[in-house]
Amino acid sequence: MDLFATPDLALPLHPRPTGDLLGELEARRARDPEPHGGRLFSLVYPTGRDDLEALVAATYERFLYHNALNPFRFPELAGLEREVVAMTGSLVHLPPGGGGTMTSGGSESILLSMLTNRGRARARGVARPRMLAPVTAHPAYAKAAHYLDMEYVSIPVDDTWRADVAAAAGLIDERVAVVVASAFTYPHGVLDPVADLAALAAEHGAGCHVDACIGGFVLPFLERLGHDPGAWDFRLPGVTEISVDIHKYGYTPKGASVILHRDPDWVDHQVFLSDAWPAGLYGSPVVAGARPGAPIAAAWVLMQALGVEGYTQLMDGVMGAAARLRRFVEDRTDLALVGDPVGPVLAMRTTAPPGGDPPDHTAVADAMEERGWALNRLTDPPALHLMLSPRHVPHLDALLTDLADALADASTGAARGRGGPVRYA
Ligand SMILES: *Cc1c(COP(=O)(O)O)cnc(C)c1O
Repeated sequence: MDLFATPDLALPLHPRPTGDLLGELEARRARDPEPHGGRLFSLVYPTGRDDLEALVAATYERFLYHNALNPFRFPELAGLEREVVAMTGSLVHLPPGGGGTMTSGGSESILLSMLTNRGRARARGVARPRMLAPVTAHPAYAKAAHYLDMEYVSIPVDDTWRADVAAAAGLIDERVAVVVASAFTYPHGVLDPVADLAALAAEHGAGCHVDACIGGFVLPFLERLGHDPGAWDFRLPGVTEISVDIHKYGYTPKGASVILHRDPDWVDHQVFLSDAWPAGLYGSPVVAGARPGAPIAAAWVLMQALGVEGYTQLMDGVMGAAARLRRFVEDRTDLALVGDPVGPVLAMRTTAPPGGDPPDHTAVADAMEERGWALNRLTDPPALHLMLSPRHVPHLDALLTDLADALADASTGAARGRGGPVRYA
C-alpha cells in the first residue's frame, strides 16, 4: 500500500443518490476495524456506555457547523472551551492565574507548549533553544523540535525505563528551554521521576512540560481509587506546562486535547495576532484557524455527564482488568512485564520458559491478529503493548484465552512473526 499515492479520481459530474452513497460508505466502513469491538488498542477509547455515546452523538449533531475561530461571534462556544480548560485544570491542580486552550490533540498541545517554551528561552537570549526529552517521550516532541527548529536532546532511561535524572543533570545547561517528563509514558506505561526532573529544570531556569496526554484522565482517578502514583502535576512547583488529551481516557471522539500553562505569559507566546491584511485583526491561539465546535461541546458534555465519580468508576473497571492482565503475565514463565506500569498501559516481553526458547513476540502478535486482536509491537525492548480502556473490560476473558493460545502457537512454530513494527500508533 502506497500511503501517499493519489488515486485517479475526479469529482463526479452527476450528483449520486444518497442511498448509494450511504451504502458505499457503510461497505467501506465495515472493512475497517470496528471502534466499538473492544479489539483495538491505543487508537480508540469508547466507553461502551450507550447513554454516553447517545449524548455525544446528540451534541455533535447540534454543533456540527459551529466554528470556534471567532470567540466574539460564538461567545457561548468560547465559554464552553474555557470551562473545559478549567475543569481539566482542576484535575491537575492548575494554580490560579494559570490557563490554556483546547487543541485538536496531544501533538498540537505539545507543539504549542514547545512554542511557548522556545519563546521564553529566546526572550532570555538563547539563540537556538534546546528541548531535553527522555527517549521514551512521544514523537510529538521530536516533531515539534523539527517544526520549530529547536535542538532535540535525548535523556536516556534507567533499567526501569524511567528517565535517568543523573544523565539529565549532565545534559542540562542554559540553552535548554524545556525538560520533558511523561506521566506516564506511551511505550511502557511507567511514570518518569517528574519531581526530580521538574526541580532540575527550575534550577536551570528552564520550563518543565509534563506529558499527561494519556495519564491526565487516568492518574487523578487512580489517586481517588487509593493508588499512590507519586507526584507529577502542578502541585510540583517546577512544572510549567501539562498536556492532557480528552480524546483518550476522557473518552470523547478525536479532536480534543488541552494545553495548560502555570504562568500567564503563555498568552504572549502562544497566541498569534496579525492585522497585516485588509480584513482587520486576526487572532489565533492554536495551529488551526477555523476550528470545529463539536469536539469542544462534546468534551464539555461528557466531562459534565461523568464528573469525578463517573470517571473514577470507569477507571475502577479498567484497573480491575489491568490487574487481571498483570496477574496473567506474572503467572506465566514465557511473559514478563516491562518496568512497573502505573496504570492501564502495559508492555510485556516474551521470556524463555524452563528448558525452552522465548516465543517470538511478533509471532505472538500475528497469532493475536489472526484472532482479531490488534496488539501493538514495541522495538525497545521487543515487546507486546496493550492499552486497556473501558470497552476491553467485558472482553478480558476472551483476550486472555486467545493470548494463551497465541503463545502456544508461537512456541510450536505454528505462527511465524512477520517481523518489524511498521506502524502509525
Ligand atoms: C497520544 C499521545 C500523544 C500525542 O497525542 P495525539 O493526540 O496522538 O496527537 C503524546 N503523548 C502521549 C503520552 C500520548 O499518549
